[in-house]
Amino acid sequence: MSDYRNHIGIIGGGIAGLTLGCALLKQGIPAIIFEKMPEETSHGAAISLSSNALRLLDRLEIYNDLKNQSFVHSAASIQGPQKEISSFQTPEVLTTRRQTLMSLLYSRYIDLGGVILHHHDFASFDVAKCEVTFTNENKYILKHLAACDGIRSSIRDTFFAANQDPKYSGYSAWRGIGKSNLQKIHFALGPDSHIVSYPINKEGDVSFVAVRKEDYQFKESWKEEGSISDLLDDFSTYDSKIFPALEDSETLYKWGIYIRPPLKSMISKNITLLGDAAHPMVPFLGQGACMAIEDSYSFAMACREHIFNMANAQEAYDYVRSKRTKKIQQLSMMQGKVYHLKNPILVAMRNAAMRYTNIPGNDLKRIHDYDAHDEMQMHLA
Ligand SMILES: Cc1cc2nc3c(=O)[nH]c(=O)nc-3n(C[C@H](O)[C@H](O)[C@H](O)COP(=O)(O)OP(=O)(O)OC[C@H]3O[C@@H](n4cnc5c(N)ncnc54)[C@H](O)[C@@H]3O)c2cc1C
Repeated sequence: MSDYRNHIGIIGGGIAGLTLGCALLKQGIPAIIFEKMPEETSHGAAISLSSNALRLLDRLEIYNDLKNQSFVHSAASIQGPQKEISSFQTPEVLTTRRQTLMSLLYSRYIDLGGVILHHHDFASFDVAKCEVTFTNENKYILKHLAACDGIRSSIRDTFFAANQDPKYSGYSAWRGIGKSNLQKIHFALGPDSHIVSYPINKEGDVSFVAVRKEDYQFKESWKEEGSISDLLDDFSTYDSKIFPALEDSETLYKWGIYIRPPLKSMISKNITLLGDAAHPMVPFLGQGACMAIEDSYSFAMACREHIFNMANAQEAYDYVRSKRTKKIQQLSMMQGKVYHLKNPILVAMRNAAMRYTNIPGNDLKRIHDYDAHDEMQMHLA
């Protein structure tokens, strides 16, 4: 069996895990990814990536290929159920199929000499020996454990916060891809609901996320199969033309959006949490994957600086990332409340602020302008 004693062992080969693998290997730090799923897995519909993540993907030499396979946006518009409220410029945002991002991260990791061990489902971790065990009974001693195992992280449950199961946020989201001639990011806002649509390429493929605040009992998988007519029933106050043309045969899914409370710290002993394992958030600012990319890039920088003292690397990471991710978690939740206002006076005030001020564009700009590389470099200096 291979010896990974000088490797950072990464549990989970999602967006956080693959980005961390690339960032570590690029700095010459040995890394190994353990993923429970087999090689071919589906990664959901589409994703938007803003400039705070894109500038890091550029440093990892993934950005150019991603841009070639995505739709590039610099503007967005917001409407109520009936008419347009406002249009504004945004810093660059790329929208693409989730699978495209995953494939590019995976290829880059492999090009850098990375290895992924699939069918490795995390079972336990011996902190004293720094030894990880999988359900297939393989065991490896590592230099450090990086938990990138997503919102249902069992590492978080065991070593960070017991009895804090993910909770239904009160929001459900339909997601799908169809055909339309939409050329920008488009938000439609209504009481207790909103719909975000964007093209993901030049061929007319348009992705939508339609969110509703509702009491709903999701079964264990957190997603349920539905039909186009179920979707239209849920969004009957909107003009159905707001959705791209969907094929009757297409399977649509309604997802429960789950959250967990913020942690005091993203580090414990020789374990570091990254991405959704550390700070799952409601997706209303499109920042969950962007935060996973920022976390991974930042942790790799801290590891490079403190490779002989991982406790120092962890402290630097936790100091810089806890502040940023807690703030984005809160802002994401607030954004849902602003989108879903019902009171007509508050709706009129929100729409006036959106129409006559630069507030929406400026708020996004502040989030998108953040440079995780500069921030970590400043802290490590
Ligand atoms: C409706 C919706 C829309 C979204 N839209 C956006 C968007 O537009 N932009 C954006 O930035 N974010 C968006 N997000 C958020 C984004 O999808 C997540 O934040 C992101 O996928 C988190 O990445 P991750 O790598 O931390 O976790 P995951 O993507 O969940 O990856 C975790 C990985 O760990 C593996 N794993 C789990 N358990 C184990 C185990 N025991 N052993 C080994 N491996 C394991 C899993 O198989 C998986 O591969 C959206 C989320 C939702 C719900």
